[in-house]
Amino acid sequence: MIKGGTENQLGDFIRGRFLFIRSYCQGRNLDPEATMAAIKEEALRITESPERKEFLENRVFGGAILSSVVLPDWLDGVFLRAMTRVLQGDEGSLFTNSSKISCISFEAGRFNAHRQADTVFRILFSNKRPEEWLKSTFGILYTKCYGDKAARFLKVDEVGHRQYRITMNNRNLEKAGPMDCSTVIGYIFGSLEKLSAANPVVTHDTCGVRPGAASEDCIFNVTWQ
Ligand SMILES: [Zn+2]
Repeated sequence: MIKGGTENQLGDFIRGRFLFIRSYCQGRNLDPEATMAAIKEEALRITESPERKEFLENRVFGGAILSSVVLPDWLDGVFLRAMTRVLQGDEGSLFTNSSKISCISFEAGRFNAHRQADTVFRILFSNKRPEEWLKSTFGILYTKCYGDKAARFLKVDEVGHRQYRITMNNRNLEKAGPMDCSTVIGYIFGSLEKLSAANPVVTHDTCGVRPGAASEDCIFNVTWQ
């Protein structure tokens, strides 16, 4: 276990990153093995700490990741950065503030929602209406990813017919950042797609983890028809 930082139950989410890369390659006729090797190389290149490099080499890229495994919070940021660079080059945007503008982090979150809704979290998605999922399930998933402490700040408010405002405070989490918020946009968007919400839109104009942000809160506005 890596010392320092926080660790949450991210195993299945990280496993989903590997599956996302495979699916991305399939759709574009890219060689999955070569792409994965390039992502590993890039992840190691952008990681400075020898301890973390070792973790990436042996625990993440070197063996199977079990869904239930507890992983350090810094890992996903390295993954998303390396994936974006390899899959989209220097042009690829690392983050977005709307489901209307895609990026790799957004698509990776959306992919995981689709996949987890059919597998590990099936019971949390089945027979739920979008509003029920937002009001109950989202909090359960958020707690798994961000921990109990952060979950105390989570608020899901109904602000109109099929209009919700989700407020969270991720400021003290090492994984927090605009890329992570983009995966949240993608995850909520992908979940609403799975729940058959018509034309969902998720926007994130107030982001507390961007440099110089006025508030610590991250606010996500969610609508559908
Ligand atoms: Zn944010």
